[in-house]
Amino acid sequence: MKLLGLRLHHLEIPLVSPFTTSFMTQTHKRCFLVEAQLETDAGDVITGWGENVALDRPYYSAEYLDGSADVVERWIAPLLFDMEHLTAETVFHHLRKVIGNPMAKASVEMAILDAQLRAENRSFASYLGAVSSTVPSGVSVGIQDSVTETLGVIGGYLEQGYARIKLKIQPGADIAHVAAVRREFGDDLLFQVDANAAYTLVDAAHLRRLDDYGLLLIEQPLGEGRHPSARAARRSDDHADLSGRIDRVGRGRRRCDLSGGDIGDQHQARPRRRLSRGEAHPRPRAGARHRRLVRRHARDRHRKGRECRTRRSPRLHAPR
Ligand SMILES: [Mg+2]
Repeated sequence: MKLLGLRLHHLEIPLVSPFTTSFMTQTHKRCFLVEAQLETDAGDVITGWGENVALDRPYYSAEYLDGSADVVERWIAPLLFDMEHLTAETVFHHLRKVIGNPMAKASVEMAILDAQLRAENRSFASYLGAVSSTVPSGVSVGIQDSVTETLGVIGGYLEQGYARIKLKIQPGADIAHVAAVRREFGDDLLFQVDANAAYTLVDAAHLRRLDDYGLLLIEQPLGEGRHPSARAARRSDDHADLSGRIDRVGRGRRRCDLSGGDIGDQHQARPRRRLSRGEAHPRPRAGARHRRLVRRHARDRHRKGRECRTRRSPRLHAPR
């Protein structure tokens, strides 16, 4: 297929009720749809649709809606317009130069896949190899002002037939709400919580109290980059979702073997000379690293024959 055109449609849809998580309250859903026009090898022009799911502010992830649209328009589209034999399966490969921005990439990939399946007159379910035409559906319940309201909202969803409840939690709206839900709806309820990075490792003992309520999992208790040590991970009997914010797997400093619940550091300390008794620990000279960088830049400038400048940014101070 050949990509002929991309158009972004920006939408703002009112929610049925305000949705509160630990970092924001949403009353409207802003998003954009990607409309992709592709020409098949047979010469037919097919339109496919994708949805961008980034939030409108960078509170949940570094990627946010307007930034995601900018990446699609300025960087993703030109790369894909250059491709002669484009398929949904090769989009990710063609976009390998663009670092991060998974939601921008996914929205375009989704639109191209939609067009590809329409051209083949094939359903998305058959493409995924689905074996059932229905699945039990769960619902995500925002943070409510009181335990009574939490019970009321969850009761309403269960009456509508939802099979699994995910309750958003934050400090001050966690243990009491979870305990009340278990008491009210019993131990058979498929029940999990999502903290959206509202806690730190200081709260480990507090979070451990959630173990008493038979949760399916505790989703994203910690913020991005705050991965717990193996010992902290084992402190919880429940399954804490540690994978949610471990980004750039394989590139980060830390390695996480989720199957064993083991998190270790890939970097090994460089072997050092053993100090003799009474010898002072050698301290790096002040400015040594900066001087080393300046020398390296000078060397590069000499090799490449290019103008290469170094500049130190001024030190910032907090306002008094
Ligand atoms: Mg979540």
